[in-house]
Amino acid sequence: MGTMESFELKNGVIVTQNDRRDILRGSVRVEGGRITHIGRGVPPADVEIDCTDSLVIPGFIQTHVHLNQALFRSLADDLSLIDWLMRRLYPLEAAHTRDSVYWSARLSCEEMLSGGTTCIADMGSAIAPEACFAALRDSGMRGCSGKMLMDLADEAPASLVGEAESLIRTSLSLMKEWGGTCGGRLRYLFAPRFALSCSDELLRSVACLAKEHGVLVHTHASENRDEVQAVKGRTGMDNVEYLDSLGLLSPQLLLAHCIWVSDREISLLSRRGVNVLHCPTANLKLASGVAPVHRMMASGVGVSLGSDGAPCNNTHDMFQEMRCAALIHKVRDYDPTVLPAQQVLDMATRHGAAALGLAGLAGQIVPGAYADLTVVDTQAAHLCPFSHPVSMLVYAAGAADVSLTLVDGRIRYERGSDGDGKKELFMRASREQERLVARSGMPYLSR
Ligand SMILES: [Zn+2]
Repeated sequence: MGTMESFELKNGVIVTQNDRRDILRGSVRVEGGRITHIGRGVPPADVEIDCTDSLVIPGFIQTHVHLNQALFRSLADDLSLIDWLMRRLYPLEAAHTRDSVYWSARLSCEEMLSGGTTCIADMGSAIAPEACFAALRDSGMRGCSGKMLMDLADEAPASLVGEAESLIRTSLSLMKEWGGTCGGRLRYLFAPRFALSCSDELLRSVACLAKEHGVLVHTHASENRDEVQAVKGRTGMDNVEYLDSLGLLSPQLLLAHCIWVSDREISLLSRRGVNVLHCPTANLKLASGVAPVHRMMASGVGVSLGSDGAPCNNTHDMFQEMRCAALIHKVRDYDPTVLPAQQVLDMATRHGAAALGLAGLAGQIVPGAYADLTVVDTQAAHLCPFSHPVSMLVYAAGAADVSLTLVDGRIRYERGSDGDGKKELFMRASREQERLVARSGMPYLSR
């Protein structure tokens, strides 16, 4: 599987997601990791892949995921956010080792690639953050990750918390080691967990260093009403206003959730060019609320999509996130014209690319863009009769319809192939989960 092998994805219906949102019949030709030609009469390629009865779409971009939480799937259901965090997430995260983080991240990547996601922004890991990068490298996925930063103990286990200065040192050395590796496929980001787990000093340093090094900052804000109250109690400010007072609001900021934000905060997010990451399924499962996505987008805030973590979703299926987003905002406003399918597909592709600084390079099928592509097989009852591709993608298709996923011009998932590799991965992940639960001191969680 050499990097220079060229591919022609033939006879498909191409949902380009270009500026005109063209939908074309024909081929997508790929060489050297980039898209070289689109349409009919493209030059021959080394390998032809027949995409008859299929949609060829830009790979999905999930801007908020937790690679290190896949092993917690089904271990933290039906709890309030505080119990979810204190009684499940923190003890489980504290029990992580390098191996458990690695296999958790590999499992997440496998799930996302098999569901057509090609690029992610990860929240990283407090323990063994390098294992998330190793998993991204080995899975072939495009992504940004970093060390999850927490320097206020609050009620978190000591092993997840560090001193601001040493956390920054570790972040910078990880950035040096992993940022820009795999031909630019992997990038570093700063990942402070959320306001309540970070000191002013830590957040100020992050804001400063992100500007200096031109890297992204990824954090959570205003997911839960109690969280917003606690931030107000500590700082006297609303959450987003507080982050602004530290210099964090900028186009380099990826801000997950933003459910409980005031009108003043929405206009602040818009003015500063902050990218909001919407995770509708996780917001429903944790009963956090419904983010004012429609209002934020109308104010010019860029909103993209993510599946968050396996313990609060419980899948990484971008089709499910698109459908959920399209549905909940309609009922929130009692208006079925809100968030039409095309806008939701844009959130899953183009807006994600813009958030990650990849506008024009990802999230659309145009010559010169990365060859990050997903093929969706439409030969299924729920996708018949073949009619409007964007409607089919947002309202009817699912992860199981993905037949092929390419990242950087390489095949990273092919439905029906590599059964043994998958079995091995599932076995390793299951074994790591068992050990992790034993280490966490929560034996009642084991199977
Ligand atoms: Zn999250």
